[in-house]
Amino acid sequence: MAPTKTRAVVLKVLPYRESSYILHLFTESHGMVHGVARGMRTARGQRFLERGFLTELLLYVKAHRDLHTLGSIQVLQFWPATRAALVRSAVRDVAFELVLASIRVTDPHPELFAFFEDLLGDIETRPERAVYPFVLWRFYLQYAAMMGFGLDLERCVQCGTDTAGRVAYVNTTRGGVECDRCARTRAPSNRIEPDTGRLLAGKTGMEGARGRLSGEDAQRITGLLAGHCRYHFDIRAESKALEFLAGVVGE
Ligand SMILES: [Zn+2]
Repeated sequence: MAPTKTRAVVLKVLPYRESSYILHLFTESHGMVHGVARGMRTARGQRFLERGFLTELLLYVKAHRDLHTLGSIQVLQFWPATRAALVRSAVRDVAFELVLASIRVTDPHPELFAFFEDLLGDIETRPERAVYPFVLWRFYLQYAAMMGFGLDLERCVQCGTDTAGRVAYVNTTRGGVECDRCARTRAPSNRIEPDTGRLLAGKTGMEGARGRLSGEDAQRITGLLAGHCRYHFDIRAESKALEFLAGVVGE
């Protein structure tokens, strides 16, 4: 059983027996992997590995097994600003929770790995008021698109009208937006203002936009995007990470 050297993002850390961990990883070489890292905890029980770390390790894949063996783990990046800031780490945890709930198969996904690495870099380095909500919104939209459930914000799902620059309403079950004429309910909770639509479509920069967005609207749009992903990935469990984030950013 020849090991594979791969980079991996630590999504979840569980202490295991006396001195080991079970890690949930997103690896560059094999996609989602669960593995045992033996003998990694010190006598004092201090945790050497944490959620969010970018590592490089040896992966010993066991055929037909769910739990693989991990060795020679090195931390490449521990993202100190994210560890030190509640909002940053809460946004990261919302993303991780969705990834853990939506990816099951062990399959190489190098483009997803690169996407997660960029996401962690953005969470670490962008101004905090951009990390929430804008980096999170981009994550929802890009992740959904990469997984085959893109939310097209620029075309009405009913009549095909171009909705760019106009008010639109998210229709979660149809996986798109409806124009002002087609939207039957015009529920304020589903409404996307033209400014917000441009922002979500990546047509205006994130920085500087926060001043025009109320905290309530930020939470409402976050809920719409989370709802889109949860519906299309068929996730029923409550989102604890999202609840926690709402508490952290709520005024
Ligand atoms: Zn329409």
